[in-house]
Amino acid sequence: MHKTNQQGRVLIIGAGLGGLPAAYELKQHLGAQYQVTLLSDSPKFTFIPGLIQVGLGHIPLEHIQLDMATLSRRHGLEWLQGKVELINPEQRLVMTKEGQQIDYDYLVIASGAELATDLVPGLGEYGHSVCNPHHALAAHTAWEEFLQNPTDLVVGAAPGAGCFGPAYEFLLLADWELRQKGLRDQVKITYITPEPYIGHLGIAEVHRAQELTEELMRFRGIETITNAAIAGLTPNTVYLRDGRAFASGYSMILPSFRGAKFVQASGLGNEKGFLPILPTQRHRDHDRIYGVGVSVQLEQPDKTPVPIGMPKSGQMVEAMAMVAAHNIAVELGIIHKPLETPTLEAICFAEFGNTGIAYIAAPVVADPVTGKRRYSYAAQGIWVNWAKIAFELYFLWKMRLGLGLPWFEKLGLRLLFGLKLSSPVLSPQTSPTQIPVTNS
Ligand SMILES: Cc1cc2nc3c(=O)[nH]c(=O)nc-3n(C[C@H](O)[C@H](O)[C@H](O)COP(=O)(O)OP(=O)(O)OC[C@H]3O[C@@H](n4cnc5c(N)ncnc54)[C@H](O)[C@@H]3O)c2cc1C
Repeated sequence: MHKTNQQGRVLIIGAGLGGLPAAYELKQHLGAQYQVTLLSDSPKFTFIPGLIQVGLGHIPLEHIQLDMATLSRRHGLEWLQGKVELINPEQRLVMTKEGQQIDYDYLVIASGAELATDLVPGLGEYGHSVCNPHHALAAHTAWEEFLQNPTDLVVGAAPGAGCFGPAYEFLLLADWELRQKGLRDQVKITYITPEPYIGHLGIAEVHRAQELTEELMRFRGIETITNAAIAGLTPNTVYLRDGRAFASGYSMILPSFRGAKFVQASGLGNEKGFLPILPTQRHRDHDRIYGVGVSVQLEQPDKTPVPIGMPKSGQMVEAMAMVAAHNIAVELGIIHKPLETPTLEAICFAEFGNTGIAYIAAPVVADPVTGKRRYSYAAQGIWVNWAKIAFELYFLWKMRLGLGLPWFEKLGLRLLFGLKLSSPVLSPQTSPTQIPVTNS
């Protein structure tokens, strides 16, 4: 049994965009009183948004990875590597494949997504993705081969997918690269998506998002197929449920996501393995368990002809991490402030070669009562690409320094984009998609 000799332990499963900032925020709140332990199945932190560039061979994987043992030593975290297989919430124990048993006072689950490639026959075998380091490296090898003999390119998302930004980014960056190499004339490019219109991105009605994104697709000569349900892939063809077929020398199709297997095995998730949570990020049924990031349940309010999921962008995930850490510190009596909820207001920078589009939604989940947001807009320009690069460098810098969501970042988001990341919670017992989000 892995026990701590401090007053208690807060254990975080997953060292990704949610888990690592959560660990830093917790360390800052809890000081030396509590052990903050990070447990992950990978020895590296990976900045997932950078995997698109890895897939296209623009940067090596090492540029967006950090060594977890080094970071943990430097910032006073306990680091454990292991693949979680089961949680016993009654005994407050986490069991790993490697045989570790780790106890906890509070548990934060930030284990991200499992890729549901099995839901579309042939997707895992013949389609590429850039959702994890392994897939991005395989996508890159195949991309280099494709460039030797370019034919048809299909980029898209499977039914139920919720993460469309990376599909647009891969699509338009691939188009840009083919143009740079003088190969674009040889390649027919098709974008196939369950979104009801181009620029929907799983976040309906962001002001100007459809207009700007559609115009860019037209300008780049990309055929778009919306409301499409990809039904299967063979080595050179992508099939839709309605019988249409598209030749593909290379396909990059984002799968739908589900929660990690151990969540289901431990009886903690919904039918897709996502954690049901309260506005405080606390598990609906377990007061010592919190959920952060892609692993939590967020319902898609837009009922589209082909089902889509809810995007959980990096900034939403970080805000959840900050709130979970704050609320655990409140529960432990270490800070004396109201419980908080993430507002889920977010900005997403999408890089498209010689231009980019920033999508801003405040909040991403519209008010379930009025169906409205505080505001939303999309803006286009080369500055978006610079902002994206600057953000990536900044993010990796702050992870090296042991900072979660520092005050100057929150201030910057407020002053530059009018975004506020959290607010005092209105009703701790209601699910986040059932209550209006406060914007005070
Ligand atoms: C290709 C791509 C591009 C994206 N681009 C953007 C972007 O430009 N902007 C943006 O805002 N968002 C972007 N996103 C979304 C963003 O990357 C996610 O919101 C974010 O990574 C989610 O963080 P997370 O902590 O929930 O999951 P992750 O970052 O995936 O971390 C999950 C962690 O859990 C660990 N883990 C999983 N299972 C286990 C287990 N059984 N035991 C132990 N550890 C486990 C993993 O090893 C990992 O450390 C992108 C997503 C993708 C896929």
